[in-house]
Amino acid sequence: MIPIPLSCEFFPPKSDEGAAKLRAITTQLTASLKPEYFSVTFGAGGSTQARSFATVETIQTEAGVPAAPHLSCIGSTRAGIAAILDQYRALGIQRIVALRGDLPSGMRDPGDFRFASELVTFIREHSGDWFHIEVAAYPEFHPQSLNAEADLRHFKHKVEAGANGAITQYFYSIEAYSRFVDDCEKRRINIPIVPGIMPINNYTQLARFSDACGADLPRWLRKRLETFGEDMDGLRAFGHDVVAKLTADLVTAGAPGLHFYTMNQADSIIAICRDAGVLPAGTQ
Ligand code: FAD
Repeated sequence: MIPIPLSCEFFPPKSDEGAAKLRAITTQLTASLKPEYFSVTFGAGGSTQARSFATVETIQTEAGVPAAPHLSCIGSTRAGIAAILDQYRALGIQRIVALRGDLPSGMRDPGDFRFASELVTFIREHSGDWFHIEVAAYPEFHPQSLNAEADLRHFKHKVEAGANGAITQYFYSIEAYSRFVDDCEKRRINIPIVPGIMPINNYTQLARFSDACGADLPRWLRKRLETFGEDMDGLRAFGHDVVAKLTADLVTAGAPGLHFYTMNQADSIIAICRDAGVLPAGTQ
């Protein structure tokens, strides 16, 4: 077994039933994985603000694992972001995932921030060193970036603005991650770059997400996943093998941690960690 810091990401549930389910999931993940933190997504333009805050509060006060809220700045004012930072600080939150976000369709006004680097600068101005700041990284490059070089330069700006660590967009090509980390080292970007790992449980949903966020689903993987059709058990078993191997390879390659996009599910994450050798054998 290889000890490595683990973190898990959730989206804020929409109903009381979803909230109860999330409580059960965080309890299960806390017991099995002993994660470093649980992060909670935040809809750009503040669309999930109240639900995100409620979820963060529940995790922070009940889960026994620190909560790390995501905070996206597009469409927000400096005063609005300052108020959220103060609210989180009052809750004892010490880690934030700072993002630009994407303007929701129909919303035109970008507000006071254009890029995540400006949010990081603002957090440091407003809250000093209180928060540990994570930012997003893109081993396959952000879909809006002009080219790889420009994206790396912009990533470096975020780090120079005060980010302490980065979590990547998910990927299924370990070479993309390793080359990105090498490129960062060459540019003296010396923060931990933790791979984001997306389990494969539902092909339609994964293909939709990947198209929307620019994560590459390699052709061989798409073709194989397509063949399962309605056979969800077969798809999940195959997806588990692929992601457990990717996870094990990332650990071997020296990844400084592992961040799981849980989609508010626990079982597949625990199974991946167990079979990738980052949990004791027999962990339930
Ligand atoms: P930025 O770092 O600002 O980069 C966005 C684009 O702008 C890139 O193409 C970059 O190259 C370019 N750029 C940056 N600076 C400059 C500059 N000075 N001049 C010109 N171009 C520039 N979204 C949400 O809404 N809520 C979430 O909770 C959320 N969580 C996420 C968690 C993770 C781990 C990741 C990887 C993504 C998450 N996202 C979330 C998605 C994210 O908001 C989108 O990918 C968004 O399009 C970019 O956000 P960013 O913080 O990477 O932006």
